[in-house]
Amino acid sequence: MIYDLLRDEIKGFKNYEVSNIECKYKMDANEVPFSLPESTLENLQEIVKSANVNRYPDPVSIKLRDKLAEKCSASKDNILVGNGSDEIIHIIMNAFVSPDDFVVYPVPSFSMYRVYSEIAGANKVEVSLGEDYHYDVGEFIKSIKEYDPKLVILCNPNNPTGTTISRDDIIKILEVNRGITVVDEAYYEFFGETVIDLINKYKNMIVLRTLSKAYGLAGLRVGYAVSNPEMIGCLNLVKSPYNVNSISQAIALSVLEADTVKDRVEYIKNERKFLMDGLSKIDGLKVYNSQANFLLLKFDDADYVYNKLLEKGILVRDFSGDNELSGTLRVTIGTREANSYFIKCIKEILS
Ligand SMILES: *Cc1c(COP(=O)(O)O)cnc(C)c1O
Repeated sequence: MIYDLLRDEIKGFKNYEVSNIECKYKMDANEVPFSLPESTLENLQEIVKSANVNRYPDPVSIKLRDKLAEKCSASKDNILVGNGSDEIIHIIMNAFVSPDDFVVYPVPSFSMYRVYSEIAGANKVEVSLGEDYHYDVGEFIKSIKEYDPKLVILCNPNNPTGTTISRDDIIKILEVNRGITVVDEAYYEFFGETVIDLINKYKNMIVLRTLSKAYGLAGLRVGYAVSNPEMIGCLNLVKSPYNVNSISQAIALSVLEADTVKDRVEYIKNERKFLMDGLSKIDGLKVYNSQANFLLLKFDDADYVYNKLLEKGILVRDFSGDNELSGTLRVTIGTREANSYFIKCIKEILS
């Protein structure tokens, strides 16, 4: 059997399950409910034409890196662009993590940290979040001292809990970790705090960002790493040459120039409060505080609620089968219409 030829690390793998369920209200994948900015839509033909798709894309995304650098007060030598920040996590593992190296990351958190650690054949050190899924920095420092990991990953705000780790606590970790520290800021725009300004002080730190969430470009697959030039050089050694296609580079640039993200983020943050307030008044569920564009909710019978929501045309992400997240569902903040409808449905389901 071909299966027998698989590397041992891969044999236990299951496919990443994504639900293909068609639903009126898709609130499962932390996407924003907006289409491209007007200015991008109007120039779409020009943008696609000038992408010259008969040629290979710019392998080092120069224009896009320039624009991204400007946005985060860094220089283009501080930036590497990836096919989603997913790819960059993979690149980091490929560059630095050998079989049997230790990788430290929080649980529950973004599932790809575990997946890429396993593909690399690393020893996983999973640090449980504490009470109400808050980061316990002491636990991280204990694990770092015990295992001297090659890689520590922090997710801030954390997906799927929405909880955050403070800048002071990140610095405490940077002070003890001799390996690489990755701070995944996929939801930065909804939170507003970053540690990008520390990239020159802590040369072993990489900050990850993405255009998939607040910028609304999940379908284009554009993420980026911010770090010091030596680190970016090391990551470039293992990057596929043409990893980001020309259409994605061109549209991403146009969207960054359109500068609509601030208003959109304000809208989502306002809706987050609306949803939070509405849900908090309902008996029979617990709502966790979130700094991202989703809320984690806990129910006595999450499966029942998940299926009832589906019947009503709402798709959320079901984490109830996950050991660390039992009883929980994650709902992505949508439009006012979607959020009002969601509150109404939860009231009906729990009454
Ligand atoms: C969505 C998400 C990503 C992946 O983003 P892409 O750029 O679309 O690959 C990375 N990290 C976290 C924590 C996420 O939630």
